[in-house]
Amino acid sequence: MAQLLLRGQPLCLNPGVPAAIEAVLFDKDGTLSISEPMLKTLAEARVFQCLVLAGQRHRELGAPGAGAELEALLRRAYGLLAGGVHPAGTTAVGSRSHNLISTATVLAQVGLGWPEALELAELVFATTDGLHGHGSPQRPQTTDGLHDLVAQLVAAGVRCAVISNDEIPGIEAFLKTHALEHHFSALWSAEHSPRKPDPAAVHGLCAELGVPAERCALIGDANSDLRMARAAGVPVVLGYTAAWSTTPPLDASFEQLQHWSELSVALTTP
Ligand SMILES: [Mg+2]
Repeated sequence: MAQLLLRGQPLCLNPGVPAAIEAVLFDKDGTLSISEPMLKTLAEARVFQCLVLAGQRHRELGAPGAGAELEALLRRAYGLLAGGVHPAGTTAVGSRSHNLISTATVLAQVGLGWPEALELAELVFATTDGLHGHGSPQRPQTTDGLHDLVAQLVAAGVRCAVISNDEIPGIEAFLKTHALEHHFSALWSAEHSPRKPDPAAVHGLCAELGVPAERCALIGDANSDLRMARAAGVPVVLGYTAAWSTTPPLDASFEQLQHWSELSVALTTP
């Protein structure tokens, strides 16, 4: 049986009782991967395409004042910051469909009817999808020290899994690019139902792994991940904060780490 140590201290189920861990469930974007540069490029491209297409169809939206309003609303909706993206914003945390709906909502706010707003948002996303996920020529890097931690987990017989709101091809391509696919036993994506942050997503992934939630750890960079894990009965829930230029605003009730070297694995006698 394995236990996890954070900065040398065992992570406990109850005070003094280290949790026995058989699987670690990792969020992908902002936890396994440094996604911010790619997400910023994607969100900027969506803003650009939206301004172009809306301006072509509605001349008044192409005028400087209205265009500036549309751009500002889109930037706020996407969580675009001067140097990156907000780690808890829609681009960082939301699925493609969430971002598409928020784009349509912004278009409705500047005067488009809902059917056209939705159609235009779909067009904007269709023209920019190639910048993200499995179609992207750009692959996000892994977070520093990840391979060493995964090797430790695998050597200790702890199974690794991904729980992400990316789609299956995007998750698989990321793992394959970084030669991690053989170390990850299962994944739960935006194509699975329910998707995270529903605690039932954790239970669905646990069922695929054949490991009860009570024997898992979950590591993510968003409060929604961490609260989902706690609600699902996962005993070890950790916030990872090193993947963003702006530190994610994580709930202080969760243990946090800034580098994978802070986490280690120890084998205990059965
Ligand atoms: Mg994330």
